[in-house]
Amino acid sequence: MRIGHGYDVHRLVEGRRLILGGVEIPYERGLLGHSDADVLTHAVMDALLGAAGLGDIGKHFPDSDPAYAGADSLVLLDRVMELLARAGYRVGNVDATILAQRPKLAAYLPTMAENLARHMGVSPAQVNVKATTEEGLGFTGAGEGMAAHAVCLLELRI
Ligand code: MG
Repeated sequence: MRIGHGYDVHRLVEGRRLILGGVEIPYERGLLGHSDADVLTHAVMDALLGAAGLGDIGKHFPDSDPAYAGADSLVLLDRVMELLARAGYRVGNVDATILAQRPKLAAYLPTMAENLARHMGVSPAQVNVKATTEEGLGFTGAGEGMAAHAVCLLELRI
């Protein structure tokens, strides 16, 4: 088994859609980024790549490349899974936490987990997505941005 960790941050701005785990969430602001700025999926991809020893998403999908402008991060996750499959890995489980003061995310978490599981080719039971506020502290507490952490286990396919 191989363990991996991912962490990502995006700034919250007006005039952008808020997409987390492939779910569009109604909110007055959205995350700023070159792609769809899906901070949760980015953290998950970095955990997967990290566990496989394959670097990070900045290496594979540089934000200087116009090919990734407005990219659907779940499609990028498909690309990460191709890399893992080529290296002989499959996903054991993923656990992720979104740090956001607002909006309330609880109702959307199961769909985020289902989306991530589907794109990783695993059962939703192997993917756990949580959300927490940071009690009004720091940049997430001030609503300036959102962050996400993810950890995963990869298993070598026999
Ligand atoms: Mg990112």
